[in-house]
Amino acid sequence: MKRTGIIRPLDKLGRIVIPIEIRNSMGIDNSEPLEFYMDVERGFMGLGKYSNGTSCKLCNSIHELNYFKGSLLCKQCILDMKGNVGVTSIPVPAVKDKPANKKSKIHRPTLQLLKSLRQLMREHPKAKQSEYAEWLGLSQGRISQLKKLL
Ligand SMILES: [Zn+2]
Repeated sequence: MKRTGIIRPLDKLGRIVIPIEIRNSMGIDNSEPLEFYMDVERGFMGLGKYSNGTSCKLCNSIHELNYFKGSLLCKQCILDMKGNVGVTSIPVPAVKDKPANKKSKIHRPTLQLLKSLRQLMREHPKAKQSEYAEWLGLSQGRISQLKKLL
């Protein structure tokens, strides 16, 4: 969405002429149906080509469509984006000797932990200490102890 700088007054009946330059660049023909979009909170209103095939840009849903950051999206996709659902910055590594129940403190030999930590650090050299701790089911203090032994 860009600002056009074109300003037109509404007439006494609330009508407005959509400038020919805009109609041409948007490919809008005379008598073509247009649909209004509005965002009352932001005081923003837009016009788009109307068609029955109008659907969410991401998932093609036709339910509860809304204009979001310049794209027509369904409510679910907008919510997903706001909550970053399905977005993971770091892939969770597969650790072979990961305990089935994280809460139970299983004593694992230091050598085995060192081996796992070394493998994790190789696969994810930029991960934080807290992330190594979480992946191995250990405290951050234990991780820094182990790092000293590497
Ligand atoms: Zn969607």
